[in-house]
Amino acid sequence: MPTLVMKFGGTSVATPERIRNAAERVEREVANGYDVIVIVSAMAGKTNELVGWVEETSNLYDAREYDAVVSSGEQVTAGLMALTLQERDVPARSWQGWQVPLKTSNAHASARIEDIGTDAINAKFAEGMKVAVVAGFQGISPEGRITTLGRGGSDTTAVAFAAAFGAERCDIYTDVDGVYTTDPRITSKARKLDRIAFEEMLELASLGAKVLQTRSVELAMRYKVKLRVLSSFENADQGETAGTLVCDEEDIMESNVVAGVAYSRDEAKMTLLSVADRPGIAAAIFGPLSDAGINVDMIVQNISEDGRTDMTFSLPTNQVERAKSAMETVKNSGDVNYTDLVTDEEVAKISVVGIGMRSHAGVAAQMFKALRDEGINIKVITTSEIKISVLIERKYTELAVQALHDTFALESAG
Ligand code: ADP
Ligand code: ASP
Ligand code: MG
Repeated sequence: MPTLVMKFGGTSVATPERIRNAAERVEREVANGYDVIVIVSAMAGKTNELVGWVEETSNLYDAREYDAVVSSGEQVTAGLMALTLQERDVPARSWQGWQVPLKTSNAHASARIEDIGTDAINAKFAEGMKVAVVAGFQGISPEGRITTLGRGGSDTTAVAFAAAFGAERCDIYTDVDGVYTTDPRITSKARKLDRIAFEEMLELASLGAKVLQTRSVELAMRYKVKLRVLSSFENADQGETAGTLVCDEEDIMESNVVAGVAYSRDEAKMTLLSVADRPGIAAAIFGPLSDAGINVDMIVQNISEDGRTDMTFSLPTNQVERAKSAMETVKNSGDVNYTDLVTDEEVAKISVVGIGMRSHAGVAAQMFKALRDEGINIKVITTSEIKISVLIERKYTELAVQALHDTFALESAG
């Protein structure tokens, strides 16, 4: 039997009624002749609540216990989905990550999937089970502890299952009907894309578009998984053309130079003032930051005056305290002698992404002009082959996204 993976995000399983609605879609695919693997998220808001309880209980919490707590939301929805299917006479059972087993690295709270055992689930399919409902987001470490895959990780569970079981397709059901040119919550002009290239989706996801977890796109690209994003709220008779297909660049007809605009509010900027401009200074700063687990993103080094320079970098807001203490340590040890450390926690990163940029000059100039016309100051700029990112004052996030969406005419195709 061909296999299909269907993943339902938090809003799609937010209540028993929504679970029934999702189960109806699953039943339809069973009737179409598929063995179905359903990956479920926790009910909407549940994971946030669990994280809140952990933080309230312990300041510098043990990540193994964090995972024990925050993985529990998916356990509930997996059981409820299996029960709902059974009520509809669909042979189904639930599986926790450790039961599958879905083996991961030891990196608690952001573990990587290392292996998915297919024997147990396949044996049940062979016995006539039609649906395996699997708790997303969670796995088991080499030490036998429960791990989680980072926020939004159920997407990655879904794609990994599709790869492991050679599924015909991996359908990601969510609260929007596909991938848009930007977050539809920011502008009503956002347009749904019928297709998007893996490379573009990867950039959009890593630059803040949370519709798919970055790692899920990486896995789909590597294992050639047919990945589709669609709504669990729309009419179920949408057929195979519903939603957005994430696919190879060659399979895309419509092409704007810019495919989309992404934003991330979760950004901070740090500047070390007046560090010695000498060989090894970057290593002396960014080595310890990396050792402290800080995800440094953008880096700017100013021109040198009198042998001294300023070094600016961006990082996630929740890592600022750790970065500060790492920098104080290097200062005290005499390795990096800066005069002051300035932190700006009110910034956001806005990015435009498109494979058309490879062959199109002038996108950066157009972007900077659009921001200038809105009176938005750019603090830091980085570019790569298919993206340009700027750091701006956070209060201008919506305005900047809307201005860029307009300037690149993303509302209309081609
Ligand atoms: P789920 O709970 O189903 O995993 P998420 O909240 O993780 O859903 O992701 C869906 C959300 O992603 C949408 O509600 C939307 O606000 C947001 N989003 C951000 N950027 C985009 C985009 N470019 N296209 C579609 N949705 C986007
Ligand atoms: N429930 C987890 C989260 O909110 C995983 C997911 O929904 O993908 O991050
Ligand atoms: Mg999600």
